Amino acid sequence: MVAEGKYEKLQDLAKRRGLFWGSYEIYGGVGGFMDIGPLGVKLKHNIEEAWRDFFIRRQGLFEIETPMTAPKCVFEASGHLESFKDPMVQCKACGRRFRADHIVKESLEITGTEAERLSLQELERAISERKIACPECGGELMKPTLFLTMFQTTIGPYSEAIGYLRPEAAQGMFTSFKRVYEQARGKLPIGIAQIGRVARNEISPRQGLIRLREFTIMEFEFFFDPEDPSCPFLPEVYDETLNLITEPLRLKGSEEPIELSVREILEKGLVKVEWLAYFMALAKRFLSKLGIPGESQRFIEKLPWERAHYSAQGFDQEVYLDRFGWVEVSGHNYRTDYDLRRHMEFSGQDMRVFKAYERPKMVDALTLKIDKANLGRSFKGHAPLIASKLETMDPEVVKRGFEEVGYIDVEGFRILPEHVQIIHESRVEGGRRFIPHVVEPSFGCERLLYATLEYAYTEREGRVILRLPKDLAPIEIAVFPLMTKDSLCERAQKIYHWLLEKGFRVEYDETGSIGRRYVRADEMGIPLAATIDYQTLEDGTVTLRDRDTWRQVRVRMEAMEDRIRRYLEGNLSFEELGRPIEKS
Ligand code: AMP
Repeated sequence: MVAEGKYEKLQDLAKRRGLFWGSYEIYGGVGGFMDIGPLGVKLKHNIEEAWRDFFIRRQGLFEIETPMTAPKCVFEASGHLESFKDPMVQCKACGRRFRADHIVKESLEITGTEAERLSLQELERAISERKIACPECGGELMKPTLFLTMFQTTIGPYSEAIGYLRPEAAQGMFTSFKRVYEQARGKLPIGIAQIGRVARNEISPRQGLIRLREFTIMEFEFFFDPEDPSCPFLPEVYDETLNLITEPLRLKGSEEPIELSVREILEKGLVKVEWLAYFMALAKRFLSKLGIPGESQRFIEKLPWERAHYSAQGFDQEVYLDRFGWVEVSGHNYRTDYDLRRHMEFSGQDMRVFKAYERPKMVDALTLKIDKANLGRSFKGHAPLIASKLETMDPEVVKRGFEEVGYIDVEGFRILPEHVQIIHESRVEGGRRFIPHVVEPSFGCERLLYATLEYAYTEREGRVILRLPKDLAPIEIAVFPLMTKDSLCERAQKIYHWLLEKGFRVEYDETGSIGRRYVRADEMGIPLAATIDYQTLEDGTVTLRDRDTWRQVRVRMEAMEDRIRRYLEGNLSFEELGRPIEKS
């Protein structure tokens, strides 16, 4: 269990040491916006770099950058305009607005996410029957409504050119899929990754870094052939165990996780796609690298009504945090072919890929033969658009439509068998065309930043030590002259610049007593402090102090670079750091 009050203590530390604080403080602040300070930015970059290394480099993903703003059509196609909405309720007296499901949940003391299941009418009934009042002023609440949590803007000076800030980085990766696929030499599977800012106009964010209106997302879309969904790297994670709360468990009312190995999870069919399970196991390992132990992590399966509109199966990776309890830090969704299919339908562009058979095959195939003359007679000026849509349609879908209802709907027009013929033919095919399926791991960077800090936060003898993993520490070594006289500063400056040259993340500080400088360094999570004293001037040795144990060793300058590097990589103990240099 995490000590009580850690959240408040961390807020204090964050301001004192430049980790983060509320944005626009001088104007009273705006909910849901946080500034990341100098030390916080360094740590955040290290988390991003660790993610890049762990997923992008090691999994061979393609990283791209796409804009924060997208035209309306992108979010019409992705379904966000219709579905990225939260129920909201406003107080008649004070005018404040709240998440309707959250206040119903708080008031009814129902567990889990039952309230998310309630429709607007049910929320309204719950509010009136239980006489739920405004949590701020006790005033009467109005009827709940749905609020679109995407920020709207206009693109350029044209008020009709509506755009939205992206609430996830995913759509840029779907709309650019074909371009990246070309770079991947037309082979599946491929993963496209992106680290970037996203914006969500959250209704009433009051949880610091946990619920922001603007944050950094690190996510990738992993595209694979649904007919060849196996993950060849599974043996690497077969024995990794995950704390899992499955949908059936939750439906029975249990939120108690069961610990299962990836092998068991797949054997029992609890996760639908091997790639999804593989990336969940990697996500657990990634969080362990950030200093969050496995027992403080769990994966909870989303119930059907909690899942995003694009998701066929979804798990939230949660971390236990003081004050908040279990908090989602990453989402793992099986998005099927939903996004590419929708973009294909809405843009008219073919998003399918071609996969060659080992040997060409004779196949019975369906093709569409569009009767353009008939289409022109029926739909006049709309005919070319309808024809272009029909050209990208799956003949099976058209056939099903004709069989089931006698027509298909294209752009609001009723298309009959007289407009398009379905032709059965046997032909030789060199391969198949299909829309790839996708699994998506998506990590919120600020939540990970916060969780990393909370798990690093410790106290010793009433003092704070930020025990960040050494390879993640924003500053690796602090260089201190013992005093500001007798050329100690000059010598310390020289060592500082030398360490900088060697590529270490270093800070120089000569302000205040050495004791206070150690306190500050511990609070900033600096693993090593190098103190330059009178003995340094005599024999060239430097005192190194360990942040976590406060033990000290002396080390010769010549040995410092190699040993510090190995120590920070975790390949040398602190005692070995101060070992006398072997004479050759
Ligand atoms: P989602 O697409 O909702 O699954 O979000 C992906 C990840 O973004 C989550 O796992 C969180 O880590 C993070 N996230 C979502 N909403 C917020 C928010 N309002 N503030 C900060 N991080 C968020």
